[in-house]
Amino acid sequence: MNERPLYLHEYHPKPELVVESHQVLTPKFPAIDVHGHFGALYSDLWLEEMNQKRPNPDDVVAMFKRCGIKRIVNLDGFWDGFMGITREKVLETLKPYGDFFINFVSVNTNAVNEPDFEKSVREHLVSSKAMGFKGIKLFKHVSIMVLDREGKFVPGRNIRIDDPRLKVIWDTAAELSMPVLIHIADPVAFFRPVDRHNERYEELLHHPEWQFGKPGLYTFEELMEMQENLLSSNPNTTFIVAHAGSYPENLGFVGKCLDKYPNMYIDIAERINELGRQPYTCRKFFYKYQDRILFGSDAFPWSMDWRYPVYYRFLETWDEYFFQYSRWGLYGIGLEDDILKKIYYKNAEKVLMLEGDE
Ligand SMILES: [Zn+2]
Repeated sequence: MNERPLYLHEYHPKPELVVESHQVLTPKFPAIDVHGHFGALYSDLWLEEMNQKRPNPDDVVAMFKRCGIKRIVNLDGFWDGFMGITREKVLETLKPYGDFFINFVSVNTNAVNEPDFEKSVREHLVSSKAMGFKGIKLFKHVSIMVLDREGKFVPGRNIRIDDPRLKVIWDTAAELSMPVLIHIADPVAFFRPVDRHNERYEELLHHPEWQFGKPGLYTFEELMEMQENLLSSNPNTTFIVAHAGSYPENLGFVGKCLDKYPNMYIDIAERINELGRQPYTCRKFFYKYQDRILFGSDAFPWSMDWRYPVYYRFLETWDEYFFQYSRWGLYGIGLEDDILKKIYYKNAEKVLMLEGDE
């Protein structure tokens, strides 16, 4: 070796490990994905952020069907006026695809201090339900993002998710039997100092907008406390806590929450990297909580034919040391058919109150 030592970002070792490996392009049972974002089909949402052009909905739906997805939740219903979106436009755009899309709305929590906040939340949710929206999505923007002077969302300290002023959302959701899918925190490493001990150092260097480990912001631990307050003080509201209950790095914690709060479900969206690096713990977790875990991917209209197979491989095979985009290798947990069915669609049918179509 006579070259200079490599920099970290140049180092991409190729494992010499020779083990069984499977390509799983479709799930063993057609899946319902409970975590998708389709705002790009009817607004400028995500286009700039992801450096993409507006996709053609026919092609998008065809791609998802090729990937074995039978139905998918579109979390991007928002509210009338957000980024030029109207709920009518959402429904109108997606109508040609029958019941393929299951649409959720959101709530404008930035209006929390306006005098008619409660009344307008109620009206918004009641009318959304009447229009056919099935659930409510709350983004991490509620508490850990704020608008900067240029009108861009940046990490900041916003309203606590357990703030009593937001109670109207959870109460109305319960009254209307609309489940709430909520994104509360990001990977715990995003809340730690960005230094040589940070396991997501490279990601955080590239994405300073993901750094929450700054003075004045909520700590990860505070967010977990708020999450528990939310679950315990709203027992009649069904929550799907996105991204493996916010804390896939600590499934012991998530399991305890699932034990304590029967109104809590989780999705596994965008956390296969975390789940797949702890196959023993994870397999036990999936066994114990097989009725509480929903399949979700954080799907966008692009490149899902590449992203889904990692989920399927993780859930269905015993493959070892494969990679998505982390520094660490992933391992399959080889789930049996009856559990796979629950995770791929049965739990979603129950929580979203869809007719079982078996
Ligand atoms: Zn998402």
